[in-house]
Amino acid sequence: MKRITVIGCGVVGAAIAYELSLCQGVQVTVVDQTAPAQGSTAAALGVGMAVISHKVKGRNWRLRERSLKRYQTLIPELEALTGRAIQHNIQGILSLCFAAEDLPRWRSLQEIRQRQGYRLEVWEPERVGDRCPHINTTGVAAGIYSPQDFQVNPTDLTLALVAGAQANGAEFHFGKPVVGFDGAEVLLQEDRHCAAVQTPNQSFAADAIVISAGLGTLPLTQTLYQPIPIGPVLGQALRLHLDQPLGHLDFQPVVNGHDIHLVPLGDGDYWVGATVEFPPETSFEDALAMRPEADRLDDVLAGAIAYCPALATGKITQRWSGLRPRPQGQAAPVIQSLAGYSNIWLATGHYRNGVLLAPATALAVRDFLEN
Ligand SMILES: Cc1cc2nc3c(=O)[nH]c(=O)nc-3n(C[C@H](O)[C@H](O)[C@H](O)COP(=O)(O)OP(=O)(O)OC[C@H]3O[C@@H](n4cnc5c(N)ncnc54)[C@H](O)[C@@H]3O)c2cc1C
Repeated sequence: MKRITVIGCGVVGAAIAYELSLCQGVQVTVVDQTAPAQGSTAAALGVGMAVISHKVKGRNWRLRERSLKRYQTLIPELEALTGRAIQHNIQGILSLCFAAEDLPRWRSLQEIRQRQGYRLEVWEPERVGDRCPHINTTGVAAGIYSPQDFQVNPTDLTLALVAGAQANGAEFHFGKPVVGFDGAEVLLQEDRHCAAVQTPNQSFAADAIVISAGLGTLPLTQTLYQPIPIGPVLGQALRLHLDQPLGHLDFQPVVNGHDIHLVPLGDGDYWVGATVEFPPETSFEDALAMRPEADRLDDVLAGAIAYCPALATGKITQRWSGLRPRPQGQAAPVIQSLAGYSNIWLATGHYRNGVLLAPATALAVRDFLEN
């Protein structure tokens, strides 16, 4: 039996645990300092922009495409296995284009996606108003509708991944911070091997270790003398309740305008977000301690009201913020082996797309471990 220890149980660690729990001959153990889905995952809106993203080739597109495909089976598979409902929306994403000069780029993307076997529709403003009467089409040059993109509740998904992995035999240890590794101290040796993950009062023996600790990655990799800088980028969002749901009840896609998402949740509830706030360029500790600026969230709400005026009548029922894990000096996400170690993999730094990319990340980690 191969023992694999995963550090971190946000959406990425939970997806890895679930995917590995499906493999024969593997015993999965997950260790997290908190309960599941408490880090960046707790703040996310769960919008999966794959087909509608401008990434058309290379690693980033391959990850998006692989996730998109895996999501089609993953959600029904988890719901059946665990009996848990996972809130998700498969009515696509409508992105509002406000600049006519951007249209050739969208048309070119539409052609590329068609060749790749995906659908992207470019709607005249009249069609936007017809399909989504809650949208103010003044200034809208076109609506880009992507029927194959989706949204999923990140906490529902993470908890279902944990329950699914547990049903397949994986073990979870919550409330246990990882503070060190056996074998890290052999400084000069190449291909070091870590035999265990240590918490203050327990050691977890491991044949392989996956670090999916988001913003915990830097301190953990410092312990391993191979610091991987992953810093925070703050995001704020809010939940609104409206007495009447917006638009047509049978067509409730996620809408995006000026990089602001409007996410329908059902029963007149909507998420609106998110801000993108960079930390001061001082220390990692200062960055982690950064606080949300209320004005920034007010601006996001004003931006959403500009394209969807009925939101002004809504009641704000919740405001929150979270820190996105963003790699410094390399592209997001970081999915690779840790230099100098033969049995440690990094699956971290997913920045703005961790929910979208979690399934593809889990498959990539499975590929590494199988090979
Ligand atoms: C406002 C906002 C909106 C977002 N919207 C979207 C969206 O629409 N779509 C999308 O795809 N993404 C979105 N994101 C980004 C997404 O939330 C992240 O990319 C994703 O949650 C990262 O998941 P993760 O599992 O890597 O990290 P996390 O969720 O942060 O989990 C890391 C875990 O590691 C644990 N950990 C850290 N250090 C240790 C240690 N030493 N020992 C034990 N455990 C440790 C932590 O406790 C934590 O549970 C959004 C983020 C924010 C803030």
